[in-house]
Amino acid sequence: MRFPRVKAEHRPFRTPEGTVRIGGEIYGLAAEIADPGGWVWAALSLLDGRRGPEEVAGRLLVMFPGLDPGDARGVIDDLVGSGYLEEAAARPPRGLSARELDRYSRNQAFFRGVDLVPGHSAWETQLALKRARVVVVGLGGTGSHAAWALAAVGVGRLHCVDPDLVELSNLNRQLLYTEADVGLPKALLAQARLSRINSDIVVTSDRHRVTCEADLRSLVAGYDALALCADEPRGEGIRVWANRACAAAGVPWAGGGYNGPLVTVGVFDPPNGACYECVTAAEQAHRAEGGIPDLSGGPGVTGTSAGISGHLVAQAIISLVTGVPEVAPGYVHGINLLSPDHHVYARHAARPGCPVCFGP
Ligand SMILES: [Zn+2]
Repeated sequence: MRFPRVKAEHRPFRTPEGTVRIGGEIYGLAAEIADPGGWVWAALSLLDGRRGPEEVAGRLLVMFPGLDPGDARGVIDDLVGSGYLEEAAARPPRGLSARELDRYSRNQAFFRGVDLVPGHSAWETQLALKRARVVVVGLGGTGSHAAWALAAVGVGRLHCVDPDLVELSNLNRQLLYTEADVGLPKALLAQARLSRINSDIVVTSDRHRVTCEADLRSLVAGYDALALCADEPRGEGIRVWANRACAAAGVPWAGGGYNGPLVTVGVFDPPNGACYECVTAAEQAHRAEGGIPDLSGGPGVTGTSAGISGHLVAQAIISLVTGVPEVAPGYVHGINLLSPDHHVYARHAARPGCPVCFGP
């Protein structure tokens, strides 16, 4: 880095024990650095984007005459390599307009905070979103929120698939539609609405019902990720089709759902992590009775539970297509709205011989 500076999200502070804590409190990314001589703190104070590493090292040697020159430079190199610093002289990459830099400025700050890859620009993450092609299957409770979030965050090409017409009972949770839309096709309405929310992206639609695995396979062809927000057919239905179709096409996917207050997302990209069928089979084996954790449960749903479901899917898709934040696929996670302390989490190894994970 030419002019490193501490990221705004990671401002350090000194603890009463004399260590330096950096990385912020809320991100879960914090580190604690021993600093008995005080020069780590001094280095961080000097790394404000106005000086190069050589100048900072020189100043440290003046401030701490006993400091070894190699150690002075080593402290700076370690801090630069930690991901808590950014290049102050960096310019946004080509490919984003002034309007996009303005529109996505809060995205950029978010990505900067959560991405600890040294030297990686948060604007490159935004550019990766702009280049991404995502298909959203199902535009109901989960899907309308997921599609909205993906359009708003700047996914460059969004394809919206749903066979249904808007019903009045949809309006308690499906935020893309209004009373005037009752009786009209969701796919077209979603396309029009999302295009008005973000005219800097391309939104397309297809009024289509997925009826088999091959159907889903042709839908995901040419896309970078699938947001599976449809729950029919249930049970061994559309999620198993998605699992197999996406693995065959090499497309990662995330599927969201709710069963009353239990709201979850599954994220899969075999062979990076186990496939949906492996994770659910392992969960089933843990249960004395009952089937797989079917998260396409009964009709009970509010705007809140549907919204959380959709946003968990959207967040997983952002991670899958940009690598920021980097989360290894092959898991189901979620929350129970009845119990703030009940975190749903399941990650299992692939089953030996699984044709989805290891190929036929
Ligand atoms: Zn598998």
